[in-house]
Amino acid sequence: MSVGPQNVCILGATGSIGQSTLDVIARHPERYRVFAISGATQVEKLIQIALQHHPRYLVVLDAAAATSIAAALKAAHCLTEVLCGADALIAIATAPEVDAVMAAIVGAAGMPATLAAAKAGKRILLANKETLVLAGRLFMQAASASGAVLLPIDSEHNAIFQSLPESYREHPYQQSLTTAGVDKLILTASGGPFRTRPAETLASITPAEAVKHPNWSMGRKISVDSASLMNKGLEVIEAHWLFNAPVAQIEVIVHPQSVIHSMVQYRDGSVMAQLGTPDMRTPIAYGLAYPERIAAGVKPLDLLSIARLEFEAPDLERFPCLAHAFAAIAQGGATPAVLNAANEVAVEYFLAGAIRFTQIPELIAATVEQCHAVSDESLEALLAADQLARSTALQLIGRWS
Ligand code: NAD
Ligand code: MG
Repeated sequence: MSVGPQNVCILGATGSIGQSTLDVIARHPERYRVFAISGATQVEKLIQIALQHHPRYLVVLDAAAATSIAAALKAAHCLTEVLCGADALIAIATAPEVDAVMAAIVGAAGMPATLAAAKAGKRILLANKETLVLAGRLFMQAASASGAVLLPIDSEHNAIFQSLPESYREHPYQQSLTTAGVDKLILTASGGPFRTRPAETLASITPAEAVKHPNWSMGRKISVDSASLMNKGLEVIEAHWLFNAPVAQIEVIVHPQSVIHSMVQYRDGSVMAQLGTPDMRTPIAYGLAYPERIAAGVKPLDLLSIARLEFEAPDLERFPCLAHAFAAIAQGGATPAVLNAANEVAVEYFLAGAIRFTQIPELIAATVEQCHAVSDESLEALLAADQLARSTALQLIGRWS
């Protein structure tokens, strides 16, 4: 670890998690320095972040964007070096100077650099849940072999991490939940914007309605996942790998207020929970400072104004994505990778107005059925399954329209 402020690499700095990370870091310049940032295509936003934080490196997807960013930074006498492409993402995630990597790219596109950071033994602030859905076993093996410290940023997993015994949360693979005295992990779900919407109206949901989450402000893809409950399905798979938890010991409960971020139920009847105002800066600050606590700019929880905490069972008939995710993890092998890829295609086409909201679970089920399960979990096999699922899903959409 370097002397002085910790060097942080933010993969996906222009996104919702990326921006919240920059906000927390800016509150603690003596503790953290933005060493590298990446973004896909948002040229203006990347220039603005570079001018404010002066990272050593900036990575963008394509060469044209890199050229225009480099010209703008040069004109402003900013010394940030601009790189482009997937290899450059891996380079900044594994650079020897980097202490912590915030993995906040959306989708399977974030997996290679996140996996590389795990192999390099970095402290990883893991927001990109798709890495665990696609390659959970490989990722956890890589982290445990290198000694990489994993801090879950997803609010539910962060809550569970905080509620687990310290020795267990840091080394889940040398133990089992049962020997740690844990009966089950309870993942809370807000239920999304359509929790009470009648089944017969789900087909007419528009992209604008689906991205309007009642409690959280997030990127477009995860907002649609929250509306379809696929987000909770991906989170079950994420919890399975992160906490070495058999799926039978993971329960999903709808809690519309999003105040209890998740819970751990122990054998003696105790239930440990983490509560807070729904604001991702809390888990981000926790991940940055662990095991210390730092200010995050989050509004204190006001229980009297919330007044009520409610709970209900998830409705798998109106929201079949959650059932598809449970089925995929039960099948194992590359099936979760297929589920994830089909979902990414479905969400993209839904957001573009090309398929209906109710076709998201249909497309996922049809793709999983056609892409026969591969039990090989090598990186090559998983990436091949991801590609096959994408092309299969595209063919199915072509046949539908
Ligand atoms: P977002 O869409 O706001 O941002 C995504 C980031 O990834 C952007 O910086 C974008 O430029 C970059 N990106 C997109 N496609 C890319 C590609 N092909 N290659 C490289 N970079 C690419 O997303 P978000 O809401 O910040 O979510 C990021 C991740 O964190 C997701 O995996 C999401 O599931 C997870 N997460 C988000 C929240 C939240 O509150 N937003 C909560 C929990 C978990
Ligand atoms: Mg979450």
